Amino acid sequence: MGEQHGKVRHEHVRVAVIGSGFGGLGAAVRLRREGITDFVVLERAGSVGGTWRDNSYPGCACDVPSHLYSFSFAPNPEWPRTFSGQRHIRAYLEHVTDVFGIRPHLRFHHEVTRMAWDAAGLRWEIETTAGSLTADVVVSATGPLSDPKIPDIPGLSSFPGKVFHSARWDHDYDLTGKRVAMVGTGASAIQIVPSIAPKAGRLTLFQRTPPWVLPRVDRAITPAERALHRALPVTAKLRRAVLWGIREVQVQAFTKHPDELGLVERLAKRHLARAVKDPALRARLTPDYRIGCKRILLSSDYYPALTRPNVDVVAGGLAEVRGSTLVAADGTEAEADAIIFGTGFHVTDLPIAERVVGADGRTLAEHWKDGMRALRGASAAGFPNWMTIIGPNTGLGNSSMILMIESQLNYLADYLRHLDALGGRVALDARPAAVDAWNRRVQERMRRTVWNTGGCTSWYLDASGRNTTIWPGTTTEFRRATRHVDLAEYEILRAPAPHTADRVEVGA
Ligand SMILES: Cc1cc2nc3c(=O)[nH]c(=O)nc-3n(C[C@H](O)[C@H](O)[C@H](O)COP(=O)(O)OP(=O)(O)OC[C@H]3O[C@@H](n4cnc5c(N)ncnc54)[C@H](O)[C@@H]3O)c2cc1C
Repeated sequence: MGEQHGKVRHEHVRVAVIGSGFGGLGAAVRLRREGITDFVVLERAGSVGGTWRDNSYPGCACDVPSHLYSFSFAPNPEWPRTFSGQRHIRAYLEHVTDVFGIRPHLRFHHEVTRMAWDAAGLRWEIETTAGSLTADVVVSATGPLSDPKIPDIPGLSSFPGKVFHSARWDHDYDLTGKRVAMVGTGASAIQIVPSIAPKAGRLTLFQRTPPWVLPRVDRAITPAERALHRALPVTAKLRRAVLWGIREVQVQAFTKHPDELGLVERLAKRHLARAVKDPALRARLTPDYRIGCKRILLSSDYYPALTRPNVDVVAGGLAEVRGSTLVAADGTEAEADAIIFGTGFHVTDLPIAERVVGADGRTLAEHWKDGMRALRGASAAGFPNWMTIIGPNTGLGNSSMILMIESQLNYLADYLRHLDALGGRVALDARPAAVDAWNRRVQERMRRTVWNTGGCTSWYLDASGRNTTIWPGTTTEFRRATRHVDLAEYEILRAPAPHTADRVEVGA
């Protein structure tokens, strides 16, 4: 960095939070609640919201009910639907930003391009597209699903039409009457297909693997219910508790007794049979792996959309593009004016990992070349005072990620309290043995889960087939595991006495 001792004023903050989605905003609120105001939130985009700013595709909505998919400390009695849409979730996050006084901390258009641990100064040197700064602690909340992935399809660059990813929807491109190819059948695609099928001239769905789909019990939350939640907030809490409790019980089948999921498979098959009468199409849409192995999708209009006369389902996935002709793995060809990729994100190969340089001069990506791993989903060995939100093995297959984020915020708050209690310039570095022990326990529990035994390949698994994304337990277990920082799991680093660094602090 360009610091010359005592001459160049650079900014130093106690905490730099990266990202302003649920994770980064939650961290910011928690920091303020802990009495910490010397922090910034670095965000590459021009507004808050993360997932809910970037995914604006038609039909975009949460698939965990809104009263659970929201912060426990910021209940919203006004959720309009059981599964609210992107616009409302984004507005909720803007509201949280205002109500909790986060605006002054936000730095938009500050994409973090590199951060490196300065072992002498016990601080992080952070470079962004809008300048550099240093921080005692980094909270990396860049999101597991924030960098879209477009597969390397031979010939794609020769396609003369429009190409975009579901998370970067081009609202200026009118799909009316167009020949549209939708690639992928994940959570985004099954919301997009029913929304655009009535508009498109022809819609070809390139399906590599059919998902399991259950009905979505979505309805408007009535004005009476909303008034009740407003007048008696305990009713909204109760509603949340019921939604949480049901999922907490369900997860046992995913983690310990995958065989019990056969009953759910029967429900899903009935759902399919009710909507799709054509046996050939039904066969193409019937999964051959255990339900739950990939994310179970909720939709009541996906299957009906696939029976429309202007919709084709091509099994085998998109294999090649020859000009405007798209060729599937089974040889089927389709002409298209536009290709929409609903092909997910860089999850197990996080781009941010390439940009974080640890104490030994190697990047996090290099440390994670054999798979992502972190102590309690938060701390990586050799990366002192660096903590990630929704880190390795913190994802959920059936419940709200906000529960996991809030658990990680408890851990963050305790971590900062320990740093304070230790006094002076100090840092905590996860001990490799503690990281190993935690990951051994996680992977041991993973062996029985449906994600590892269900007979599918999914984005939960990395290139070597290891599940580095999902938490193999209940959210209560994770909450317990992250309630307190166990100092024995960390090495305490102290700045060499007597002097640290002659820097000028201009923190907020
Ligand atoms: C379409 C969709 C629907 C979903 N629905 C649900 C649901 O119903 N229930 C559920 O539990 N989960 C759902 N998820 C998962 C969802 O991603 C999480 O619930 C949650 O929103 C993640 O929050 P986050 O803050 O960790 O990440 P994000 O919301 O992705 O935010 C990360 C932020 O970091 C910023 N950033 C990234 N890199 C940098 C950088 N280098 N420098 C600066 N800023 C950077 C990004 O711009 C972004 O604003 C869904 C995901 C998607 C994509």
